[in-house]
Amino acid sequence: AQHFLSRIETHRDLNAFITVDPSATLAQAAAADNALSNGAAGALTGIPLAHKDVFVTRDFATTAGSKILAKYKSPFDAAAVARLAQAGAVCVGKANMDEFAMGSSNENSFYGAVKNPWNPLTVPGGSSGGSAAAVAAGLCLGATGTDTGGSIRQPASFTGITGIKPTYGRVSRYGMIAYASSLDQGGPMARTAEDCALLLNAMAGFDEKDSTSMERDDEDFTRLLAQNFSADATESQPLKGLKIGVPAEFYGAGLNEEVKAATLAAIDQYVQLGATVVDVRLPKTELSIPTYYVIAPAEASSNLSRFDGVRYGHRAENYTDLEDMYRKTRAEGFGWEVQRRILVGAYVLSHGYYDAYYLQAQRLRRMIAQDYQNALAQCDVIMGPVAPTTAWALGEKSSDPVQMYLADIYTLSLNLAGLPGMSVPCGFDASGLPIGLQIIGNYFDEARLLQVAHAFQ
Ligand code: GLN
Repeated sequence: AQHFLSRIETHRDLNAFITVDPSATLAQAAAADNALSNGAAGALTGIPLAHKDVFVTRDFATTAGSKILAKYKSPFDAAAVARLAQAGAVCVGKANMDEFAMGSSNENSFYGAVKNPWNPLTVPGGSSGGSAAAVAAGLCLGATGTDTGGSIRQPASFTGITGIKPTYGRVSRYGMIAYASSLDQGGPMARTAEDCALLLNAMAGFDEKDSTSMERDDEDFTRLLAQNFSADATESQPLKGLKIGVPAEFYGAGLNEEVKAATLAAIDQYVQLGATVVDVRLPKTELSIPTYYVIAPAEASSNLSRFDGVRYGHRAENYTDLEDMYRKTRAEGFGWEVQRRILVGAYVLSHGYYDAYYLQAQRLRRMIAQDYQNALAQCDVIMGPVAPTTAWALGEKSSDPVQMYLADIYTLSLNLAGLPGMSVPCGFDASGLPIGLQIIGNYFDEARLLQVAHAFQ
């Protein structure tokens, strides 16, 4: 723990953490030491992890990247945090993030932008940018992230690490500050698929405190890692029989040539490992952007109504009455992107617009999910890029929110469908920035995804 705390100190300029509290970390480390000497070690005893600051924690303040929650301290641990702690993990600090997980670059944090360790003039991706930067820079061995529309996969891709967004309902959302509840899903970010599998073993599982948590038998997500894909696989072709679907829509206009070349080269390597490629279609890929950017703000506008200056965090100082207090607290406490989404969300849900926007988006959402089922009927996994480009320069897209939304084109549809997906490092562009390969599977196929990712690593 001391080693990682001093690395965090040395690399403060990355701004990967919002809260570091050495005494809280060292107390957890001492407990891990005790467990070790008492023969009570768990699967992750002593493993230093960063928690995205959207997971509430008892030992550390929780801000969700927002001024409105400055200095907020939760009376309980989020379920995912508690499960990791139960397995013995030690928290090294709370990772920076876009405010309320709204963003794709980590520039929307009240606590400042995070820098990409590969090139500090570029963004680490978002919204789990602090988690990604911390893992990539070796400030911890793994991290928690959340993915509402790509926030685990895209920062993993931009920082050259591995991340998995599990099936919706796999990891409890209890204590995960809500952005868009029907899309939010927590998951691990780490160096390798194997590390992700070990972390997911601890994080996943039914939780009666989350009404959308899935009741499934406990699963060992490492169980397929060392196995061949099928009985006729050979030593040089361990993935013989694996069918990879490649959607033409993931290779259309707007995709950077280097990202295209690196992801196609990775798919070629899978062919060397015994896989075959089939063409599949995801015809509504482009429509996933307007669909998501109606549904997510709608849910956000409702979820964020709880931040009223009464119950948590920041409260405006000078006000005339209750309504004035609400108004001033929210105007002072929420950043521009959050306010923009609350406005959009309230608009699409309002009488007279609901049918035209929200209901239409729900219809499209169902069609997008159906497209995935049609595609996955023809293959075992789908592969393609995670994002159209590598990490962009700090400030490059921050004045144009729509440019930022368009960069989410390959990640949003997965959340609309509730499917699991990964980002696995597959190369670098000419300037040395990492490129991620996206691997998508059917519901509850995480062990398969991790196996496929592991074979490549
Ligand atoms: N970039 C998307 C958004 O801003 C996704 C963020 C996320 O997955 N939390 O909403």
